[in-house]
Amino acid sequence: MRQQTMLAPTLREVGAEAEMASHRLMLRAGLIRQLASGVYTYLPLGYRSLRKVEQIVREEMDRIGAQEVLMPAMNPAELWEETGRWDTYGPELVTLKDRHERKFLLGPTHEEVITDLMRNEVNSYKKLPMSLYQIQTKFRDERRPRSGLLRGREFLMKDAYSFHADRESLDATYQDMVDAYVRIFTRLGLDFRAVEADSGAIGGKESHEFMVLSESGEDTLAICGGCDYAANIETAQAGSTKGDSPGEADPEQVPQPEKVATPGKSTILEVASHLNVPSERLIKSLLFQVDGEPVLVLVRGDDEANEVKVKNALGATEVELADEATVLRVTGAPAGFAGPVGLKETVRIVADEAVQGLYDGVVGANEPDAHLIHVNPGRDFQVDQVADIRTVKEGDPCPRCGGVIRFTRGIEVGHVFKLGTKYSDAMRGTFLDGEGKERSFIMGCYGIGISRVAAAIVEQHHDENGIRWPLAAAPFQVHLIVVNAKKEEQARLANQLYEQLKDAGIEVLFDDRAERAGVKFKDSDLIGIPLRVIVGGKAAEGLVEYKFRRSGESGDLSAEEWMVKLP
Ligand code: ATP
Ligand code: MG
Ligand code: MG
Ligand code: MG
Repeated sequence: MRQQTMLAPTLREVGAEAEMASHRLMLRAGLIRQLASGVYTYLPLGYRSLRKVEQIVREEMDRIGAQEVLMPAMNPAELWEETGRWDTYGPELVTLKDRHERKFLLGPTHEEVITDLMRNEVNSYKKLPMSLYQIQTKFRDERRPRSGLLRGREFLMKDAYSFHADRESLDATYQDMVDAYVRIFTRLGLDFRAVEADSGAIGGKESHEFMVLSESGEDTLAICGGCDYAANIETAQAGSTKGDSPGEADPEQVPQPEKVATPGKSTILEVASHLNVPSERLIKSLLFQVDGEPVLVLVRGDDEANEVKVKNALGATEVELADEATVLRVTGAPAGFAGPVGLKETVRIVADEAVQGLYDGVVGANEPDAHLIHVNPGRDFQVDQVADIRTVKEGDPCPRCGGVIRFTRGIEVGHVFKLGTKYSDAMRGTFLDGEGKERSFIMGCYGIGISRVAAAIVEQHHDENGIRWPLAAAPFQVHLIVVNAKKEEQARLANQLYEQLKDAGIEVLFDDRAERAGVKFKDSDLIGIPLRVIVGGKAAEGLVEYKFRRSGESGDLSAEEWMVKLP
């Protein structure tokens, strides 16, 4: 590609509103342009990198046997009414009406559409397991789309969904997906960690987030120095949004009841860390009301009997608190929970069914039958002592091995989640098993933010002069620069090299512009193509200069020799 005629408008400066390095550099290098808040055009250079990321994701999905489909972005409201998410998803949902006043939405995620497809097309266990994926534009009306491609309102996502006859099969595919994600992010040259998205305290085997380590990330990760324990504890930061699963409603934005910034799962981890409770010993958290005030109780101890009593709470019967139960006051609890409670006294929990129906989570939640359903600490009520709890510092003991926890920040680039039968139950997505019995699909879902990944790469790979693309995601492999195109021998050699490179199948950007050398080199640093080949003063002797963007390593080569330096 010749730069003279390419749409690659570099900028020396951008507005102060672009705070993140990736946002600034992608604007400055002429990769993207903003059309509206959180809505971007990909210019040729940016789109090439985006497609590189997309292709790597596609290859790794294909490798584990997932099948690519493309579902409509425009979804009828009826499907989302079946799962209740039309009402519960919240203001992130982009909705519209057609000319007949029928309600639609622009998909932020596609559990409903894929479950609809599967219930219509697959009805036998013989077709299972089956994994489908798509790479598609998603729409989320994010509250704060201020970070360029890191948080768009229209963005590119790979979303995969798997369907199974049993849990073991789901576990196997989940592991395949995790392995594929590790290969994807490794191939892209990212420094990342897979972290438990459910906190360790409540058994984080069901959901993992892939986090690109970056000081500018919105999430805070607790990482153990002694074992591979890593968990996401970040949720209370303003602007950070968390859901139960990829595509789940942002708990901050669920319309009712009172919305708060601290989802429960992470809260429990924080509490557990704070109290130095090993995760296995944190049995349950429960919500009560004391003197008219809601209270969150964390029940600790490995006493089996204790756990049984806690389970009884589901039936709204009596619960006896263990001696070591810890009470935290919470505010903003949903109405409908009532009953006197006192430490070491008998407790009665009454969960009003009508109220339960309004909520969509659990309190506690390390086992399917061991909690109050439809309530989420942090979403439905707020823990009072967050400030105190958040004084958890690096150096606290690891809940798994007792080693030292340190904190680091990360950008969520991927999320894998075992959904179970949540959507198939709601939508009657069933198949016939080997005995001819009708059963709900067991499901998993797996997202990667493709456009966010592209930005995360820039976030991790840049210096003060610009981007330093890893080869796998670079818009071109070689940046060929002719220093002075008016000089006959330079122009001839550069054009010859350009043709040779193209013939060799190398992706080359040829800066043939009539700009000053300084401008060309500055732009080249900014755009960040891994290898630069400069045809300048020594062209007459048949020499070219090469320079690697990352290491800065450079030297002269004869025009015949240069090929060995190719990436
Ligand atoms: P976040 O916590 O950053 O809001 P999320 O948990 O809501 O993300 P998921 O529903 O898990 O996101 O979606 C799967 C993936 O899509 C995320 O891991 C992330 O990489 C990407 N993603 C989510 N929201 C955006 C966005 N607004 N812009 C770009 N990528 C996004
Ligand atoms: Mg979100
Ligand atoms: Mg998230
Ligand atoms: Mg997520």
